[in-house]
Amino acid sequence: MKWETIVGLEVHVELSTKSKIFCACTTAFGGAPNTHVCPVCAGMPGALPTLNRSVVACALRVGVTLGCAITRYSKFDRKNYFYPDLPKAYQISQLYAPICRDGHLDIVAAGRKKTIGIREIHMEEDAGKLIHDPGSGNTFMDYNRCGVPLLEIVTTPDFRDADEVLAFLDLLRETLLYLDVSDGKMQEGSLRADVNLSVRPEGGALGIRTEMKNLNSFKAIARAIAFESARQIKVLKLGGVVTQETRRWDDDAGVSLGMRSKEDAQDYRYFPEPDLLPIVIDDPWLREIKDGIPELAQQKRRRYIDELGLSEPHAAAITAHKNIAGLFESVSKKSGQPLEAANLITGAIMHMLNQSGTLPENLLIDADKLSFLILLVAEGKINRSAYKEAVEAVFLHNVDPEAYVTERGLLMISDGHLIAETVRDVLAQNQSAAADYHAGRTKAFGFLMGQAMRRGGRSCDPDTVKKALTEALQRWVPIG
Ligand code: ZN
Ligand code: MN
Repeated sequence: MKWETIVGLEVHVELSTKSKIFCACTTAFGGAPNTHVCPVCAGMPGALPTLNRSVVACALRVGVTLGCAITRYSKFDRKNYFYPDLPKAYQISQLYAPICRDGHLDIVAAGRKKTIGIREIHMEEDAGKLIHDPGSGNTFMDYNRCGVPLLEIVTTPDFRDADEVLAFLDLLRETLLYLDVSDGKMQEGSLRADVNLSVRPEGGALGIRTEMKNLNSFKAIARAIAFESARQIKVLKLGGVVTQETRRWDDDAGVSLGMRSKEDAQDYRYFPEPDLLPIVIDDPWLREIKDGIPELAQQKRRRYIDELGLSEPHAAAITAHKNIAGLFESVSKKSGQPLEAANLITGAIMHMLNQSGTLPENLLIDADKLSFLILLVAEGKINRSAYKEAVEAVFLHNVDPEAYVTERGLLMISDGHLIAETVRDVLAQNQSAAADYHAGRTKAFGFLMGQAMRRGGRSCDPDTVKKALTEALQRWVPIG
């Protein structure tokens, strides 16, 4: 019998708004524990929430991009629960009227196109963090993350394997970054996925699902899917039943463990949030949102290939990060040399990023300076090795490229007279090599070229020297 794995995702995205969803506290990551807290996000009695308008704008940007229907009259609800990390003992979320519904994202996995349905997107607040101290056995509470805005993106159960899940998350993350709504940092918990998984004999009725919560790396997600799918198949093969439950993924041990039976919505005793007004999305706002959607990575890739003539690998490498794409666009525009700019960025710049362990989002490099160097090399004023050296100096020390190439004598001598003179001297002093060349031993050319370059210094333009040497050798007659 062939088994089929069915996966649906609930993705929590931390938004990169300046302040929290219902108060003015900062959303900055980290900070000393309990320093980004006020009476509202600490859940003090009588403190009232005020909705941050930019959270709604972020939700709309994502919803419009994913082709969702926008709920014009949207509301918040209370999700009641005992949360040690959320001191109000309820989470403000959306159940009955989420802001976006019925969208989709088209992915490519294993070379095949597939449409993944988006059931809904809702806004909610994040909880704080519990820090377990194994030494003392105590648990500490840090409420800094309490009230950081989240979007919860819920897909339909359209995934059949981990490849599809990862392709979806990759594209979703890229889209969120280009939309400027989240930093997408999985390592800081800005993007977390809950995996709902069930198995069934191929084509059969849907099985009972389990949920694995808060997976925060692509690797963990792929391993968790493989493990949980195999576990459920084994249970069913032995004639057992899968229990509907929430399971914890232990990444170190590589196993999922039963945590608690899975709650249904009624367990949370949801009711409309009485402290917040409904949200009305009017036409002008929605139009403003639609007009403000930027060009996304996929569109950029198409344009780089079709209009700027980039290769597909170069276009893909450059758009893999928004910051890199931004750098490419300004360097290519300023220098008017898109191909040279693409070579520089996918070559030397990315190499240096890797070498220095710099994340692309932290790359700060002056596009004007790079454009200046591209023009110098394109116009033949510096050679390739001087170019490489100057680019490195700009990357590492942010030097002024004009002063750098001048002071180090990197500007090329393409003065015909000077080079002709150098070549003449070299031939006069290396009669036997010149004779060898004439006798058909072409290796001698390389030797003479090396001599001429050494004499001329590294600022000599090798192409000009080569040309001058070739001509001189054609005219050459042995002395005496
Ligand atoms: Zn606060
Ligand atoms: Mn949630």
